[in-house]
Amino acid sequence: MIITGSNQENAAYPSGLCAERVALFSTVSNFRSNAITTIAVAAYNGLEFTAKPISPCGACRQVLLEYEKRQQTPIRIILYGKEAVYTASSALSLMPLCFDSSYLKNDADEL
Ligand SMILES: [Zn+2]
Repeated sequence: MIITGSNQENAAYPSGLCAERVALFSTVSNFRSNAITTIAVAAYNGLEFTAKPISPCGACRQVLLEYEKRQQTPIRIILYGKEAVYTASSALSLMPLCFDSSYLKNDADEL
């Protein structure tokens, strides 16, 4: 199954959303029982795909990482450009030393 997303732009900039998170949120909302195996990211300028691969922003990387941890299987990442294609075997490889839910536990939780 392939779920697509596109950038959702808005004049009030923070109200928009990146294509990666549009696709991820749609997938998790509609197909919760399916693990996400791969996300492919490409940018099209209206005429052609960009020459260089485009990379997810930090917020999208964080969301990818949290879904990956939640489903306990890696999400492969493909970044497409006409002149190069980069792949990563997991979201964690794009976010080393990441912030995650383990930092949200307080010391009282461990008593
Ligand atoms: Zn993003």
